[in-house]
Amino acid sequence: MNQAVLILIKPDGLKKSLTGNILTRLSETKLEIVAAKIARVSRALAEEHYKHLKDKPFFGEIIQYLQGELHDRKKVLALVYWGKDAIKKCRDLAGATNPEEAEPTTIRGSYGRITTTGVYENVIHVSSNEDEAKREIKLWFQPDEIIVDLYPQKEVTRKECKVKIWD
Ligand code: UDP
Ligand code: MG
Repeated sequence: MNQAVLILIKPDGLKKSLTGNILTRLSETKLEIVAAKIARVSRALAEEHYKHLKDKPFFGEIIQYLQGELHDRKKVLALVYWGKDAIKKCRDLAGATNPEEAEPTTIRGSYGRITTTGVYENVIHVSSNEDEAKREIKLWFQPDEIIVDLYPQKEVTRKECKVKIWD
């Protein structure tokens, strides 16, 4: 079954110059990249992304982590991969959430670490099921940033909308 999955290369992945390695590993899946961008992560975006974890003791730290406050990299690389069994393929390659428990050959097993305060810095986010992927992709991307039609969309006319253009 064809699926879409949101991948984030988190700020530690960017700071450790792992972008190329991670994309190479993901290319083993033969999935198609249908959207990609470098994104600034506001507190509101980070909190919405991890809202299902808001009662966890580590919530505050993972919000700081995703925003890049621990790594002097206030951005993430966001991608949408598309194709057969995309979620399982990408999660298998990513490995377990806890980088110490992840198989050493996986992305998290190879490059992740646990900080002294106990946060799992695991270099990559991968949606864990189709509902989560849909929610996350709609959170991180607008319809015209994705080159396939993944979800129902509509056209609206916006009046007096301020946008930046090249000077
Ligand atoms: N996390 C953590 N400690 C935990 C569980 C999660 O630091 O005990 C962090 C970790 O960076 C993880 C993120 O919170 O990637 C989101 O947690 P989730 O359970 O959704 O794991 P994932 O889907 O990323 O494998
Ligand atoms: Mg998750």
